[in-house]
Parts: sequence; structure tokens; C-alpha cells
Amino acid sequence: EIYGAFEKFSLVFLSLARSLVSGERLLALIGRDIVVRDAPGAEAAPPLRGHIEFRNVSFAYREGHDVLRDVSFAVEPGQTVALAGPSGAGKSTLLGLLLRFHDPEAGRVLVDGRDVREYTLRSLRDQVTILLQDAKLFRQTVAENIAFGRRGASREDVVRAARDADAHEFVSEMPNAYDTLMAERGDDLSGGQRQRINIARALIRDTPIVVLDEPLAGLDAFAERRLRTAIRRLTAGRTTFTVAHKLATLSRADVILVLERGRLVGRGSHDELLATCATYREFCELQRVPERAEVAGAANGARAAVTRDPAHARRAADRSAP
Ligand code: ADP
Repeated sequence: EIYGAFEKFSLVFLSLARSLVSGERLLALIGRDIVVRDAPGAEAAPPLRGHIEFRNVSFAYREGHDVLRDVSFAVEPGQTVALAGPSGAGKSTLLGLLLRFHDPEAGRVLVDGRDVREYTLRSLRDQVTILLQDAKLFRQTVAENIAFGRRGASREDVVRAARDADAHEFVSEMPNAYDTLMAERGDDLSGGQRQRINIARALIRDTPIVVLDEPLAGLDAFAERRLRTAIRRLTAGRTTFTVAHKLATLSRADVILVLERGRLVGRGSHDELLATCATYREFCELQRVPERAEVAGAANGARAAVTRDPAHARRAADRSAP
């Protein structure tokens, strides 16, 4: 499941950012299936530009069950890449390989022309920011929640990030502004506000590579428009991978990679793929249904249930089968 995989990412991200846990403890936290360590002779990565290439990458969690098969693509620094395809296609796994939560069975993952195994894990992951759909806030002040993205961030850095994330205005109106204590799950904020605090936290990290789980899920059209501006500031000039469900997110990507059962079956812009890739057309058709329902005022929960229900996807796929 996408969410499960991203939960793991977030644990790693949080743990590394805090540097509170040892490597062994971290492995225990994120599960036994992740056993990647620094390769002998691994070096700290220099500041990365964000050129990313997968070269004939195959990967299986269990022997004989390939989850990715012979995947090849290259992404220029600063490009926005959307990953599209049905649930279970391998999108999260692909990102997991980029972050080296797993190593490929065959093929290579290269960042700035070097195999990711040549970099220390820490130096690689320090240059990636992961923004989750619904990342948790801590029971700390707003400022601490934002500064968490980078050790040693000053109040000035925090306010600048909050402005860029379009959060400064509502934070300023809180009882103690940046010193207001957050409730555990950020319940005192709307979904859009919580996401803007998260974007501020991501902005303050200022990394060349950004990974997003569909950032606009579960928001109404107005909140979505405001958030989009903040997300544009986060992704500008950085290589960005987005697991995308919304057509608006897909159509704005520089390049879309379409995965189906672990194979890369399409690559191109939204319009190109609509014209050439049947899997992509089907995928878009599936996303359109819940988006119409949303416009009609259906609950966000219903939208999420529809898009993430594999049975629904199968039924739709069955209908369009010849
Ligand atoms: P997507 O992100 O496109 O929904 P995933 O990469 O999460 O797809 O999953 C691809 C396939 O790999 C699915 O069949 C899923 O069940 C399987 N899978 C994902 N994570 C694991 C894991 N940790 N162990 C075993 N199988 C997994």
C-alpha cells in the first residue's frame, strides 16, 4: 500500500532528522525487510544536482515475484515527475529504490551519474525531502514544528519558510503566533493549514530532491488552489517525484511515468500519453469519476475510498477490457 510505504519513509526521515536513534534501532523501527546498509567504501555525497536515472532496474520483495521489471528512465535536475498507475503497480517501491530502502536485484539507480550505493545512506537521504499527505505535527510550538525540518534553523528561516508555504497569515492570527502549542494531531488546524505547515517544514530543508505523495488529496477546490502555489515554490528548481492521482497534478508534471505491474508502460506529457498510452487513459478515466463527485460536493472520505479501493479499479478495468 502506498500509505504503508510512505509511513516507513516518514519514520526514516524523522529519525534521521532527529539523529536520536542508532542504525540498528532504526531498522527495528522500519521493519526487517529493510536491511540496506552503507556499502564498503561508500562516500558522503557532494551537494547533489538531482539528475536521476534508473538503468534496467528489476526488484522483488520475494524471489520470483518481480515488483519492478527492467525499468529505465532518466530525469533532468529540476524536473517534476509524476508517477501514475494502478495501486500495486510499484510506484512506492520505485521511490524506495531511489531512497535506497532496497537495492535492485538487477540494474542500477544513479543520482548525478553515480550508483546510489556509492553514497552513504545518510548523505543521500539528507538531500531528499519527503512530504506526506498527512504528516503528523508534534506537540510543540508552530515554530518548532517548522524548524524540525533543519537543525539550527533560526526564527527568521522559520518565518520565511512559512511565508513561502502560505502559512504566515494564519499562524500570525493564532493566540501566540509562532509560539502557539500544537495539539497532537494538529486537530486545531484545517487539513489545508496542516499541510501548509508541513510544506514550510519541507521548504526549510531546502534539498535538491523532493518526494511527494499526492499533495492535494482530500482538499476542497479552494484549499487546493492555495496549496498549489505553495507546492510550486517547494518543487521549483528541485527534482520532484510525485505519486499522483489528481489530473491537475498529472497535467502539470514535466514528465509522467506510467507503471503497470512493475513495468514502465508509458513516459511523456499528459497530452502525449493520452494519445498513446491505453493504461494512462484508463488511469485518468478512473481519477475523473471521484473528481466529478467532489465537484458535486461529495465527502472527501468517499473520494479517497473510491480511488484507493482496488476492487473498484478492477471493476473499471474489467469494463474497459475488450
Ligand atoms: P504502488 O505504490 O504502485 O501502489 P507498491 O510499490 O506499494 O505499489 O507495491 C507493488 C507490489 O509490491 C504490490 O504487489 C505490493 O503488494 C508489493 N509490496 C509492497 N511492499 C511490499 C513489502 N514490503 N513486502 C512484500 N511485498 C510488498
